[in-house]
Amino acid sequence: MTTALGPGATIGVLGGGQLGRMMAVTARQMGYRIVVLDPSPRCPTAQVSDGVVVGALDDQDAARHLARQVDVITLDTEHVPADLLAELETIVPVRPGASVLRTIQDRLVQKQFLDRIGLPQATWSEDIASIPRPSILKVRRAGYDGKGQVRLDAETELAPALAKLHGEPYVVEEVVAFTREISVVLARGLGGEIAIYPIAENMHRRHVLHTTRAPARMADDRRAHAEKIAVCIAEELGHVGVMAVEMFELADGRLLVNEIAPRTHNSGHYTYGACATSQFEQHVRAVCGLPLGDPRALTGAVMVNLIGDLWAAGPPPWHHVLARPEARLHLYGKDAPAPGRKMGHVVLLDDDTDRALTNAEAMISALARR
Ligand code: AMP
Repeated sequence: MTTALGPGATIGVLGGGQLGRMMAVTARQMGYRIVVLDPSPRCPTAQVSDGVVVGALDDQDAARHLARQVDVITLDTEHVPADLLAELETIVPVRPGASVLRTIQDRLVQKQFLDRIGLPQATWSEDIASIPRPSILKVRRAGYDGKGQVRLDAETELAPALAKLHGEPYVVEEVVAFTREISVVLARGLGGEIAIYPIAENMHRRHVLHTTRAPARMADDRRAHAEKIAVCIAEELGHVGVMAVEMFELADGRLLVNEIAPRTHNSGHYTYGACATSQFEQHVRAVCGLPLGDPRALTGAVMVNLIGDLWAAGPPPWHHVLARPEARLHLYGKDAPAPGRKMGHVVLLDDDTDRALTNAEAMISALARR
C-alpha cells in the first residue's frame, strides 16, 4: 500500500515550461514544495518554484541531484529520455513512469501500441510509398505543435520534403478529412481511479492550437465512445496523472486517435476556472496519491492562446482582456516572444460558448490591432 504524499511534500518537475508553472502555482497553494529541473534558471516554472536545478533534461547528474531532494517526480514535457526516468525511479517515484514515456515519446512506438490495443487511428506506415498522397511525414521524436511535420501533396517533391526532417526518423500517415478535432483530458489516480473532464473541441491555426471550447458539441453516444477510447489508453499504459488524447472526428462518426500526451494539456487549460478541480490540481492529486477531485464543469468556456506574434510591436494592450469580467488572463513569464511561441492564454467563462468564441476572436483581433 503506497501512502499519499500530503501537503509539505516536495514535487520535482522535469522541464520548466508553462504546464509546470501552472501546476506549481496550484501545488504551492495546496502547501506542496516544488523543485524544477530546466536549462534556464528563469524558466516559467522556476519563477514560481521553491528551488531550481539548472541542467538539460537529459543531464543525468542534474536529474539525480533533483531526485535526491524531492518525494516524487513528474513531467512538464514527454521529451525526457525514458532510460533516465527508469534510473530516477530507483531513487524516487516517477509519475507517470518510464514505461509510459517509452511508449508515448516515439510516434512509431505510440502507433504500434494503438494498433496492438485495437484503437482506430489514421492509416500509417514507415514506408512513404505505401501511403497515398496527400500524406504527412512526422518525425518520430520531439515533434509538437506541427514541428517536424511535412505535408506531401500530389505534386510535392520528395527530396526537399525529406530534407526538412534533417535526417530524423519519421512515420508517414494519411491526411484525414476530419470534421472536428477534440481532446479528452482525464486523470488516472495511483489506485487506478479515473476522472474525465468535459470533452474539448479544438481549432488549430498553422498547426498550433488556437482556441478550445468546452464542452464539445457532441451527441452523448459519441462522447461516451471518445471517453472509452481515452480510458482504455490510460489503463493499458498504467498511466498516473493527467493525460490528453487528441482525436479526429470524421463525417461518418468515426473517431481516430491522433496523439497522446501523458501530461496536462493546452486543451485542458479551460479547466482552470471552468471546472471544480483544474487539470493542474488534478495532476498534483494523482501523482501524490491523493483522491482525485471533481472534474465537473461549473460553466462553459473558451480558451484562446496568446502567441508571440501578438508581441511584434511590444506588449499587447491588455485592457482588451482585463475589461472583460468573464476573462481570465494567464501569462507564462517568457521573456522572448518569438512568432509561434505560446506566451499565455485567456479563458472566457461563459455558458454560451458560441458567444464566448465570438468574443475571443474579437479580443484577439483587438490585441493584434492595438
Ligand atoms: P500533431 O502534432 O500530430 O498533433 O498535429 C498537429 C495538427 O496538425 C493536428 O492537430 C491537425 O490539425 C493536423 N494534423 C496532424 N495529423 C493530421 C492528419 N493525419 N490529417 C489531417 N491533419 C492532421
